Amino acid sequence: MQYTLDFAKDLDKQDLLSTYRNEFYIKEGIIYLDGNSLGLLSKRAEDSVKNMLESWKEHAIEGWMNGENPWFFLSENLGSKMAGLVGAKENEVIVTGSTTINLHQLIASFYNPSTGRTKIIADELTFPSDIYAMKSQIKLKGLSPEEHLVQVKSNDGYLLNEDDLIAAMDENTSLVILSSVLYRSGQLLDMKKLVEAAHERGILIGFDLAHSIGVIPHDFANIQPDFAFWCNYKYVNSGPGSVGGLYVNEKHFGVEPGISGWFSSKKDKQFDMEHELNYEHHAGAFQVGTPHILSIAPIIGSLQIFEEAGIDKIRRKSLQLTNFLMMLIDSELTNLDFTIINPRVDEKRGGHVCLHHSEAASICKALKAHGIIPDYREPSLIRLAPVSFYTSYEEVWRAVQVLKEIMVQGDYKKFKNTRNVIA
Ligand SMILES: *Cc1c(COP(=O)(O)O)cnc(C)c1O
Repeated sequence: MQYTLDFAKDLDKQDLLSTYRNEFYIKEGIIYLDGNSLGLLSKRAEDSVKNMLESWKEHAIEGWMNGENPWFFLSENLGSKMAGLVGAKENEVIVTGSTTINLHQLIASFYNPSTGRTKIIADELTFPSDIYAMKSQIKLKGLSPEEHLVQVKSNDGYLLNEDDLIAAMDENTSLVILSSVLYRSGQLLDMKKLVEAAHERGILIGFDLAHSIGVIPHDFANIQPDFAFWCNYKYVNSGPGSVGGLYVNEKHFGVEPGISGWFSSKKDKQFDMEHELNYEHHAGAFQVGTPHILSIAPIIGSLQIFEEAGIDKIRRKSLQLTNFLMMLIDSELTNLDFTIINPRVDEKRGGHVCLHHSEAASICKALKAHGIIPDYREPSLIRLAPVSFYTSYEEVWRAVQVLKEIMVQGDYKKFKNTRNVIA
């Protein structure tokens, strides 16, 4: 079958989410396929930042309790809204910190090696920052990461096997910390199966949702993980360094936060100024200090769009976009040495397509020179993320045509096959 431009345009006509494209700042002549690294700015997120500046201008110190979005309760209020994206109860989610800081907080709160369970299980493919956090938390307990951090191997360097992860869980394991979707291969792990296996063995398990929040629905009421954490600048489109989020299962309410501060406090006690912390008995306990209000502000606007569109529709379109992209790669890029690395089946695929090519770094530079924004990841991987809110099927079609042209005409050879500082 020939996937023509008209075929792509037809898909756009049937697209239930097509109206959202107008809400985002999209540069003329650019096809942006990097929303899994940094989502684009929406007009609503921009407005909520402007409104926040206005509320500071207007209310000064009174902004903590007054105005459209009183700052004192903003992390809790947005946590309640984000709970929908993970299928959790409202007070199981708080908007705070960042992916890495929230991971530190959760390990500090749930890792108790003195019980004899001293090991943390992760994998060899996870994001480096997560591994650095795990190692430093193990060291803070006076233990050696070489001995107590177990990184489960991948068979092919790209994908993980749930059974291998489960086989590593033993009576010395305290925590299992994995990504819901692997940042390179885009593999979506079977969280339900992993949680059941961990719990059968008396182990706590948590997930990094950086590559699944805002693109995949999560049914945490059913899956019942112990904790999770994420950033909001990827598929949640809330801007560089915007405040992240964390989830703590309600069965752990009452656990003392490992890293405490006055924002861990029960709200009505915080200004008693006691030296004995009366920490909150919900996810809010895992905050530390004053929330970064200006970096939370864009999340207000972004979440409105998610609430309107619905995460199920977002996922459906995302799967169709990546499916279309893979079909085009299969039919247009034959004999050009590309390999699709991500799992092909819907149940195991995240929001992006991952391509391997030995000249990946030069190809990414050539794509950028032609107005297509992919991202490059070591070793030799090209990630392409069409985003439901703002990528059209026509753009996916055009991107593959440009890629084909770059390969056939050898344009990529003009660029060095080495990564840039940020890649
Ligand atoms: C993006 C990403 C991070 C980034 O962490 P920050 O603390 O937000 O810098 C961490 N882990 C994974 C898996 C990611 O994809």
